[in-house]
Amino acid sequence: MERLSKFLMKEGIEYSSHGDYGDWSWTSPVLSEIKGKEPSLIVFPKNEEEVIKIVEVIREEHVPLVPRGKGFNNVGGLILNKENSVILETTKTSWITENENHVQLGPGTPYYSKGKFTFNPRVYPSTFEREVTVGGNFCGGAYGIGSYRYGPNWDQVLRIRMVNPKGRLVTLEGEDTKVAAHAMGTTGIVTWLEIMRNPQKILPFLYFFDNIIELEKFLMRAYDEALPFYHLSALSPSAMNYIFGLDGRWGLLGAVEEDVVEEVPKGADGKEIWRKRSLFNSGMVEYFIEKGERPFYTVYKVDVDQVSEFISKAGAEVKSPMFEMNLTNEGKARILTISSVPFHVDFYGDSLFNVNSPYINNRVTPSHLNKIKMYKRLYDKEDLFNPGKIRFDK
Ligand SMILES: Cc1cc2nc3c(=O)[nH]c(=O)nc-3n(C[C@H](O)[C@H](O)[C@H](O)COP(=O)(O)OP(=O)(O)OC[C@H]3O[C@@H](n4cnc5c(N)ncnc54)[C@H](O)[C@@H]3O)c2cc1C
Repeated sequence: MERLSKFLMKEGIEYSSHGDYGDWSWTSPVLSEIKGKEPSLIVFPKNEEEVIKIVEVIREEHVPLVPRGKGFNNVGGLILNKENSVILETTKTSWITENENHVQLGPGTPYYSKGKFTFNPRVYPSTFEREVTVGGNFCGGAYGIGSYRYGPNWDQVLRIRMVNPKGRLVTLEGEDTKVAAHAMGTTGIVTWLEIMRNPQKILPFLYFFDNIIELEKFLMRAYDEALPFYHLSALSPSAMNYIFGLDGRWGLLGAVEEDVVEEVPKGADGKEIWRKRSLFNSGMVEYFIEKGERPFYTVYKVDVDQVSEFISKAGAEVKSPMFEMNLTNEGKARILTISSVPFHVDFYGDSLFNVNSPYINNRVTPSHLNKIKMYKRLYDKEDLFNPGKIRFDK
């Protein structure tokens, strides 16, 4: 470690031997049981050249390296499994070049800063107001606001540059970018991204349904008829009451891009709920905590025609559940089941999107996982890049 600090000092690369070590896994009752190690150093590169230099010396010294953006990953991506790990924080690599249909940016660029968006993203996480980074979301997040129309955040990414575990700067395009998407930095440090943007104004509507069957019918219609919503999120009656003081019915937030507003059914004014969209996509977990409650939660990705069946099964398994669901472009509902009473998080089998596990394995498709595992196997045999986050046994 001494050689590393001397090297950083000589090169003028900023570092600290102690500091705030962010990690939001503590919100999960399962992940909070894992005791991560303290980092030995935190480095703050300002650009790609500095990242390359850091990786070079890390390789020579065989030191574990864990990248970090703003530290809001809540699925164990920042739990340090090995002693003497070095954290590479990207927040000093924040810059944007805007083009007509896309932007190029540094990985440490936040989606949102000083009360406004830094550019107009197509898909962004519900933690955007926390000034989380675009690089951290690409490498550790998945779906978000806008995913009904546009899918997961990585589908918006056209090209990336990454310093791989061999210390080489590589450019990845199209499908190949999945090597780094949701890979938690296990395959390299992303240093540059080119992503599509959405220049449209968004208009939010609110729809109410007397029961889950009615909501399910509406959602199936949305997919069958390809209703061009931008974002769809639903809350169960108990959640509508808990958060917004509205009771009795299921509520659906349907946001639409201004130029296609005539194509969707008119609903009530949804501006108030849209302003609080940080409460969707697991944002309710934080809301529980702010209210002084310990949340127990799980996320399933369910076919839209099985939503009512899922809700009925979950209702039988979980005491006093609340539900929040976000619709994706694949005809699936990502359903958060949350309760202040403990329950078994895997009550519905295979469609679990495991937010209570530090392994990336069951949060991406088999072909996506295969790309990550193969790259890891070829370029990081020592497992120095965010060690212990991929399982090779199943
Ligand atoms: C209440 C709550 C709600 C959330 N809702 C959403 C949501 O709607 N959608 C969503 O996608 N996520 C969500 N998240 C997860 C997280 O907040 C987001 O993914 C966020 O964008 C992470 O950004 P960050 O800058 O904090 O990244 P970090 O947490 O710092 O990093 C994320 C992961 O990526 C790796 N990483 C970071 N930068 C790089 C890099 N340059 N190269 C390689 N690897 C890197 C890190 O090692 C880590 O494993 C939520 C989290 C919480 C606590």
